[in-house]
Amino acid sequence: LVRRAEQQDTKAIQALDSAHYIHPFTDHGDLATRGARVMTHADNIYVWDSEGKKVLDGMSGLWCVNAGYGRKELADAAYQQMMTLPFYNSFFQTTNVPAVQLAAKLAALAPKVGDRSFNHVFFSSSGSESNDTNVRMARRYWDLMGQPQRKVIISRHNAYHGSTMAGASLGGMSGMHAQGDLPIPNITHIEQPHHWENARAGETPAEFGVRAARWLEEKILAIGPDKVAAFIGEPVQGAGGVIIPPETYWPEIQRIVDKYGILLIADEVICAFGRLGHWFAYEKFGMKPDLVTFAKGVTSGYIPLGGVMVGNRVAEVLIEKGGEFNHGYTYSGHPVACAVALANLELMEREGLVDRVKNDTGPYLAQRFAELKDHPLVGEAETCGFVAGLVLVKDKVKRTMFDPDLAVGMICRGHCFRNGLIMRAVGDRMIIAPPLVMTRAQIDEMMGLIRLCLDATL
Ligand code: PLP
Repeated sequence: LVRRAEQQDTKAIQALDSAHYIHPFTDHGDLATRGARVMTHADNIYVWDSEGKKVLDGMSGLWCVNAGYGRKELADAAYQQMMTLPFYNSFFQTTNVPAVQLAAKLAALAPKVGDRSFNHVFFSSSGSESNDTNVRMARRYWDLMGQPQRKVIISRHNAYHGSTMAGASLGGMSGMHAQGDLPIPNITHIEQPHHWENARAGETPAEFGVRAARWLEEKILAIGPDKVAAFIGEPVQGAGGVIIPPETYWPEIQRIVDKYGILLIADEVICAFGRLGHWFAYEKFGMKPDLVTFAKGVTSGYIPLGGVMVGNRVAEVLIEKGGEFNHGYTYSGHPVACAVALANLELMEREGLVDRVKNDTGPYLAQRFAELKDHPLVGEAETCGFVAGLVLVKDKVKRTMFDPDLAVGMICRGHCFRNGLIMRAVGDRMIIAPPLVMTRAQIDEMMGLIRLCLDATL
């Protein structure tokens, strides 16, 4: 089969791209000199560009194509729903069948932890929008609880919570803050729990995890506990470079938020839907969140959909005391997106993908990734389910990093591109998050490519 897109002229597409398309997170001066790589089609864990080059997608697109590419069931679900009811909004006392079914399905999948259960879902079209919803919902909750002074949301440096004004403010990316007069008021940050970078000499991960969590308590006390609305965190920080917290971190955070009555928001845009071997990662980490952000993997990225799992603590107040919540999006509960999500979750259940990552391919990836620690460039190499990160170092014994101006991560990423592997560079941390359908043989193939690219970077 000759694909339509392959027949297109790369140069012509690149010229049009350069003339008309403003890309997200892209230096256009740089792009104009190189020309964008034109991706044309995909199957399973591979994508092809317009020159016919096949690339193993170690990033599942942008952490989202969990079910892999080319899943006809998902296209069929979209087609059927488009022919039945392509759109209707959920405003003003209306609803639609796929949105209701999906809300019920997600409520069934979300585990109850302690006294927290999730019977309600609010839909959006992305992770960023969902985090805006979280800010609105958390503040609305405290208004309704008679504590309107609780406005502050605490997040972490290097966190990623999206690119809208609230999402980027919650996020802890200094480059994003610098460009938009951010953060917006009443959002503040603490340090991330990165043992490799922040631990004291001789401090164990367990000791460091508790110390890092207590930075939250210090911040709460500095602000005044009665002013704090919520703490938000990714169970495993993704875009910040796959920062896997020590096991002691989240239980201590939970103790602290419980002590001061603060809401806990788990941003699971990356972590949910099997990425860490669980439907929702809060379960794995001993978190008892009140709000859970999701997006990406819920549809395996086939169509935009996001949302917030609203725990009983917040939902009961919002529904019973709230009256109208003046918040929502045209595409909240979009029937086509919800139908695709339902088909995706069904596919994942049928193929046992979550269980496979937890008990088979995830542990295998961990084993193979650990082997990279013998490489002279690799300081740390860690996985959690189907996310993994390694840090490129100048001297692994002394733990010294390369001069950032050398851009060693970008050099390594360039070798990956040329050798047929998509791996992302966050500074000098190289990260992967492959499709959950990846087999053991494909893990071996990917690991061979990673080693090849590390050798080329030496
Ligand atoms: N939250 C997390 C943890 C993310 O990783 C992302 C995107 O990568 C977002 C929020 C933003 O999601 P979106 O790009 O769909 O707006």
